Amino acid sequence: MQEFLEAINAGASSEEFEAIPIPESYRAAHVKRDEAAMFEGVESWDKDPRKSLHVGDVATPELGPNEAYVAVMASSINFNTVWSSIFEPLPTFGFLDRLAREGKWGARHARDEHIVGSDASGVVLRVGSAVRNWKPGDRVTVHCNHVDDQDPTAHDDSMLAANQRIWGFETNFGGLAELAVVRANQLMPMPTHLTWEEAAVNALCASTSYRMLISPNGADMTLGDKVLVWGATGGLGSYAVQLIQAAGGTAIGVVSSQDKVDLLHSIGVEAVIDRKDENYQFWSDAHTQDESEWRRFGKKIRSLIGEDPDIIFEHPGRSTMGASVFAVRRGGTVVTCAATSGYMIEYDNRHLWMKLKRIVSSHFANYQEAWAMNKLIDEGRIHPALSTTFRLNDVGEAALQVHHNQHEGKLGVLCLAPEMMMGVADKDKRERIGEDKIMAFENHAASLGKETRR
Ligand code: NAP
Repeated sequence: MQEFLEAINAGASSEEFEAIPIPESYRAAHVKRDEAAMFEGVESWDKDPRKSLHVGDVATPELGPNEAYVAVMASSINFNTVWSSIFEPLPTFGFLDRLAREGKWGARHARDEHIVGSDASGVVLRVGSAVRNWKPGDRVTVHCNHVDDQDPTAHDDSMLAANQRIWGFETNFGGLAELAVVRANQLMPMPTHLTWEEAAVNALCASTSYRMLISPNGADMTLGDKVLVWGATGGLGSYAVQLIQAAGGTAIGVVSSQDKVDLLHSIGVEAVIDRKDENYQFWSDAHTQDESEWRRFGKKIRSLIGEDPDIIFEHPGRSTMGASVFAVRRGGTVVTCAATSGYMIEYDNRHLWMKLKRIVSSHFANYQEAWAMNKLIDEGRIHPALSTTFRLNDVGEAALQVHHNQHEGKLGVLCLAPEMMMGVADKDKRERIGEDKIMAFENHAASLGKETRR
């Protein structure tokens, strides 16, 4: 891949990229099929991604007609890589085996190693014979919606497609690697004012938040809406609060430390709840929820914004869903895309039906939604939430930090890029938009004395 790196740094032409041979193997982060039971009997919290995530050479798969090889300059850690690396709720090899039943191209995915990662920025190296809109040398970001566009169910909203998958989680050849195999309809132009690592961290979390809040497929937020965001400095939340501000709403952020409260204030979110400081005990024991604690939470929200929120942005799941259904306003919407703390959910249905509330489910984003989100980033309206950048060799440590909720925003991973701060195509635009905004999360981490470049 070294030759490709030199070509990328030299701004080589499409023809020059075509002339460089694709290597037979490449470095990639992966979990192993024969280790899927390695954490049996270990508590979820103690399962250590540093033990299960390996970085080493893997064989390059053949390229399908509707696919592209991408030299991955940088990628990011998403929670799905944590799930893959701790083999919860299931080892991901079952997904790969199911995909393998879809014929020749699907069969490539069922390997004994699963190359993980669902984000990437980089450069197209080759395109398959059916690819029309992209060529070698194009600088791209990759979104993770993997759909078969010959399936009729993919043609209303592709997230409803019967065989919709998340690339690098439910498929192989993901982004935490020096090379990735993606479908052409996962490619988007790389925002021109960002570095490789800044461009790499957005697509999965930002597009998910976009669909949840802005899209008619999600909560369909409108001007003036008050939106409560759980985990407001986490991967999803850090884009959610920016989208709410940009769309003319008011964000109420919930976080779990004073440092995170300060971070939200620094990016203009005034209404913030420190859930640790408030010490909410929504569950009085493993089976019983405490409605008086929901009320205390609701009162706190009213004390900050004077009313109940129109929308609650949910993803912690079991620990918070009862409180969310209670606290959202009459007729309001709880939009959910996950259940980090447990997916067997319990809420008081009387609060839902008597007050005509809605629970809306959401999952990643279709191509159009991901594209719209990428454009907002390219226009400098929404900024990367990159706080710390790791090297590919330290991917296990990065995943552990996300697993243990020790991070803020997004953790980037340099793959082929040798150093940080490379890859900006339009320096004037970067200056116009302002590095203080683009690097707000990293600067905040640095101000706390944290190591932001590992
Ligand atoms: P993240 O970066 O870890 O952020 C999640 C935040 O949630 C944390 O920062 C934490 O914030 C808060 N949190 C965690 N446990 C909590 C609890 N028990 N109660 C209240 N708050 C809690 O993760 P993420 O990238 O935002 O992803 C969040 C979840 O969404 C994961 O389960 C992920 O798999 C899922 N997800 C789903 C999709 C999809 O397409 N369906 C896409 C992306 C992510 P504080 O400690 O500061 O409160």
